[in-house]
Amino acid sequence: MNYIILSIIVPCYNEEENISIFYKEACNTLEIIGKKNSILGEFIFVDDGSRDKTRDILNNLNKEDKRVHYISFSRNFGKEAAIFAGLSKSKGNYVAIMDADLQDPPSLILEMFEAVSSGGYDCARAKRVTRKGENIMKSFFAKSFYKVMSKIADVRIEDGARDFSLMNRKYVEAVLKLSERIRFSKGIFNWVGFKTKYFGYENIERSKGDTKWSLIKLFLYALDGIIAFSSKPLIISSVFSCLLFIIALFLTSFIIVRKLLFGDPVNGWASTMCVILLCGSIQLLTIGILGQYLARVYTEVKGRPLYIVKEEE
Ligand code: UDP
Ligand code: MG
Repeated sequence: MNYIILSIIVPCYNEEENISIFYKEACNTLEIIGKKNSILGEFIFVDDGSRDKTRDILNNLNKEDKRVHYISFSRNFGKEAAIFAGLSKSKGNYVAIMDADLQDPPSLILEMFEAVSSGGYDCARAKRVTRKGENIMKSFFAKSFYKVMSKIADVRIEDGARDFSLMNRKYVEAVLKLSERIRFSKGIFNWVGFKTKYFGYENIERSKGDTKWSLIKLFLYALDGIIAFSSKPLIISSVFSCLLFIIALFLTSFIIVRKLLFGDPVNGWASTMCVILLCGSIQLLTIGILGQYLARVYTEVKGRPLYIVKEEE
């Protein structure tokens, strides 16, 4: 019998309390899918430099169940690196990405698998329709981020789209071709194209433990996203500079005319200071924006590996 393989990639960072529960739920789901389809499941857990017992638990699971594989990083490289490592190691005809904290309900995999395996779609992705239970500040920043992105990004970033997804091999290979160091999956997944079906679901609170994303971490991630998928901030800063130049021309003409008509009264310190401060701050802002792009070019040029593997099974 010809089996198709479904790989499930699970990035884990200090998830000792969740892995066993997740594994059980995912096994149940695989069993249900297996009733209708001849599939073999494959788990690829990525231990992203956890400091708790995550690695030991994965090692035990690997000994008990040959379907379980894991990669352990030498330190914490971030979820994006973990996803890339998982995708690179996966062999499945279909590949799913899921969080370990059961915020991504394994039962949704059934519908996702139907959508992709029927050939109608290349990718199925979960999308949160509510932000219930989420920190108010986090919700506010997330909403603002999607608003800004929809205006300036080169790709469409779906509001509330999660990393939780299931894709076919063609799609995985396309994603792996984008080997950039600073990875912003939400953008990359859209950039590659193909047909994606979104599955809306209500936000579910984390099973155990705390979120690994602080507001600062989220802000920096959002910045990576904007810079990776839009060069509009550079255009905006140029437009700002042009506007300022026009204002400066007007002011200069005004000062010259005033001098010719009324001589050169020694006042004007306040206006001079205003102009210097305005020009100075806009210059710094523009240099700052330029610097952000340059810093990312530097990171990409160094071409360091996305992650270092300590152990792999
Ligand atoms: N994660 C990871 N590396 C990190 C941060 C998170 O592999 O540096 C994993 C984490 O273990 C979880 C998933 O990514 O399986 C999502 O993380 P989390 O639940 O903290 O994010 P949230 O659901 O709050 O967006
Ligand atoms: Mg979570």
